[in-house]
Amino acid sequence: MNTKERFLSALKLEPVDRPPVAAVVTGVTVGMMEETGLHWPDAHHDADQITALAASVWELSGIECIKLPFGMTVEVEVFGAPIDFGTRDTLPSEVDHIYNHPDELKIPHNFMDSGRVPTVLEAISKLHKQYKDEVTIVSSIVGPFALAAKLYGFDNLFPWIITNPDYVRQILDELKILAIEYANAQVEAGADVILIGEATCSGDLISPDTYADFIVGSHTDICTALQAPSILHICGNSSYHIPHIAQTGAAAYSFDEGINLEMARVHLKGKIALVGYVPTVEVLLQGTPDLVYQASLECLGNQVDILAPGCSLPAHAPKENIAAMIQAAVDWGASADLRTNIPDVIAEVCPVAKNALADTDVRKKRPSRRRKSIRRD
Ligand SMILES: [Zn+2]
Repeated sequence: MNTKERFLSALKLEPVDRPPVAAVVTGVTVGMMEETGLHWPDAHHDADQITALAASVWELSGIECIKLPFGMTVEVEVFGAPIDFGTRDTLPSEVDHIYNHPDELKIPHNFMDSGRVPTVLEAISKLHKQYKDEVTIVSSIVGPFALAAKLYGFDNLFPWIITNPDYVRQILDELKILAIEYANAQVEAGADVILIGEATCSGDLISPDTYADFIVGSHTDICTALQAPSILHICGNSSYHIPHIAQTGAAAYSFDEGINLEMARVHLKGKIALVGYVPTVEVLLQGTPDLVYQASLECLGNQVDILAPGCSLPAHAPKENIAAMIQAAVDWGASADLRTNIPDVIAEVCPVAKNALADTDVRKKRPSRRRKSIRRD
């Protein structure tokens, strides 16, 4: 079973020799930039540099997918938002929102030819040519709710959920169509899998009811219309979104240690591939290789189908820690002993994980409907 077969089989919930190790959000580190001599932020603008840097994640570390682009500002830039392209170790971000009313939304008619869109499509196509039989190419779109937040700002969008819900629906309906078109253009260019990045749907920002009432329909429409399997990425404390995520038709759900694993297994196991959830900061960035190894075994013991960092691999994650994550998956496949002694280290080092595990019983007692919290932190 080669790397691509392993990844795609795991994504389709088919048998694998061992779980693959992937970085489906962003997998580039400063170490990889130094080895290739290519660096952010220049690399965001050039198809050859994106191609080489994305490939280096597989070539230099052995992570078993190739993911591009790096960051989530390609779409918002085409709409005209000013972008801060970041530094050698930080990702681009939009400087400010550009709209204050839904009627201002104007989908650029030449979207596919604007900004970095052609650059991204060209890089996908180069990677496809080079790796089509060897490694899975994952490319990404910004989900409609995250893009709406970038275009309108949290201060407009979140109050509208309560004061002007029709505004939100109107915006998401239009952005959903663009998401489908852009994602399918990536598939035509050679992407095997599309990641839908929806950090703004995190349970730290919106309630499960808001997710269900406003957003899940768009996600379902996108997953249905895509010509390739999709991975829905929503990080943070999003456990109570999970029953709704189960309805979307996504091939996989990518999550971090803020999720209650029991809920993920109950609602998703065997239906949607579980992708995660090695903690990025406390483990991959700050931990020792041994902690990374133990935490990775814990993720595998909790039945992830694809072992991956919970969100973007930190730019300063040490090479040894990436190697330890990969080693854990290899050993897991080879040793029945490992599969019977599951470590329990993640909650010890990640307060968020501890809360997520403790959360179920408390939340089960609460009414699940009509709660519309809109925390903005
Ligand atoms: Zn994330």
